[in-house]
Amino acid sequence: MQLLETLKRVVGDAHVLTGDDAAPFGKDWTGKYISTPLAVVRPATTQEVSAVVKTCSVADVPIVPVSGNTGLSGGAYAEGAIMISLSRMNAIREIRPDARVAIVDAGVVLSSLHEAVDAHDLVFPLFFGARGSAMIGGVLSTNAGGSNVLRYGNTRALCLGLEVVLPDGRIMDLMSELHKDNTGYDLKHLMIGAEGTLGLITAAVLKLSPKPLAYATAMVATPDLPGALSLLNQLQSATGGAVEAFEYMPRAYVERHIARIPGAREPFDAPYDVNILVEVGATAPRDADVQPDGSVPVTNYLEEVLSGMLEDGTVLDAVVAKSDGQRAQMWERRESAAEVTLTTPTLVDNDVSVPVDKVGTFLDRITERVQKLDPGAAELTVSHLGDGNLHYTVFPNQTDAEHRDLIRQQVEEVTRELGGSFSAEHGIGLTKLPSMTRNKDAVSMDVMRLIKAALDPKGIMNPGKVIPKV
Ligand SMILES: Cc1cc2nc3c(=O)[nH]c(=O)nc-3n(C[C@H](O)[C@H](O)[C@H](O)COP(=O)(O)OP(=O)(O)OC[C@H]3O[C@@H](n4cnc5c(N)ncnc54)[C@H](O)[C@@H]3O)c2cc1C
Repeated sequence: MQLLETLKRVVGDAHVLTGDDAAPFGKDWTGKYISTPLAVVRPATTQEVSAVVKTCSVADVPIVPVSGNTGLSGGAYAEGAIMISLSRMNAIREIRPDARVAIVDAGVVLSSLHEAVDAHDLVFPLFFGARGSAMIGGVLSTNAGGSNVLRYGNTRALCLGLEVVLPDGRIMDLMSELHKDNTGYDLKHLMIGAEGTLGLITAAVLKLSPKPLAYATAMVATPDLPGALSLLNQLQSATGGAVEAFEYMPRAYVERHIARIPGAREPFDAPYDVNILVEVGATAPRDADVQPDGSVPVTNYLEEVLSGMLEDGTVLDAVVAKSDGQRAQMWERRESAAEVTLTTPTLVDNDVSVPVDKVGTFLDRITERVQKLDPGAAELTVSHLGDGNLHYTVFPNQTDAEHRDLIRQQVEEVTRELGGSFSAEHGIGLTKLPSMTRNKDAVSMDVMRLIKAALDPKGIMNPGKVIPKV
């Protein structure tokens, strides 16, 4: 009680939430992780964050940062902890079009940033289904990926500077706007992807890119995944590397999408096994301007590659979006993935990455192993194929935790065999702690523990996440 009174003095009575007011923060998007935080504290400035963290540190009370609560790995689970929400720190401090940067508070919602930079014909090129809730602090802390990593990299690649409140309350100013700054260890990269275990991100300098003036978007069916990769590579050559997204949805995904989402439709007249959503973005007027015959060059490039491949049989079918509405419909199919997939409680969801030319091998090998272990188990994949990231889900017949973990271990083994990672873009949180224990190189694990102990000797920052107990 004493602690809450002190926190109220720092942020004001109205911004220390308890009981029913705090309860919504204790439930994440998946509904899988439900916790009762001691309180949710909503500071308005970095100085207030610092004072809150200092107070918790002195009292030895755990802290869990929370942003949009859309993380898929249980990283914001906060039983008995003080949750710090930066939702009041939501100012876009500055957009500097000439320098192509935005300087923002960590509580800015991703889609709000999209809207703000759009007014300057710029884009912050991080897109995924939860962009209307996820916040900058959250996407940096999970190093989120999404559908445009192929062209722009993941969140790490989109960040120039950070401000971080350390576990003892000190404010670390890394708000650099520099593209080159070799002054010792790159602490910014230590904080990005740390899932709130090393500090609380309060602000960031983000890189912006020119907004595509026109998009060419299509659904394409290929005979197999090597054929899909050939399409990607031909398109990259034809467009000078302008492919923005290259997403794979197998037949099972299309069927489940139609069954689960009202109004969902087949992408083609006939059913195909390999369905690709491809999007090319043109930033140069010469590629984007409507020609006298009504055509748009970027669409012509896409159609030329597709017609060549249709002729030689390496593409089976293709539908090119002719309107914003058609484009939106194509994207809706892909962006419903979380709703389509994660609504069954006893699934085994995996977020793995392998080299882009090994995605097909991964799927062949894992299907064989899973079917041996659990004959008839349904499997569902949706993949950011352009960067080798697969969301591979199994709906097992046996639902006990031990059996599900055996399936997960098979996934980890196949991933390892192919030089992949068991955790591509959703972070470790609580969900992937056993996978960390089994797969992370022991020396790297040691170094992570040393860093955690050095920065957070009391172990109060998001305890129990990312680093498994010894
Ligand atoms: C429908 C849907 C689609 C998704 N699609 C994708 C996708 O395509 N690609 C992808 O990469 N991810 C995807 N995700 C998951 C993605 O990780 C999160 O949506 C997002 O990155 C987390 O942002 P958030 O603001 O909700 O963070 P939260 O869920 O609130 O927090 C995530 C983690 O970061 C920590 N944290 C939060 N804020 C801070 C801060 N200010 N400082 C330090 N630590 C902090 C939390 O403690 C927690 O560990 C999707 C999620 C959903 C629900």
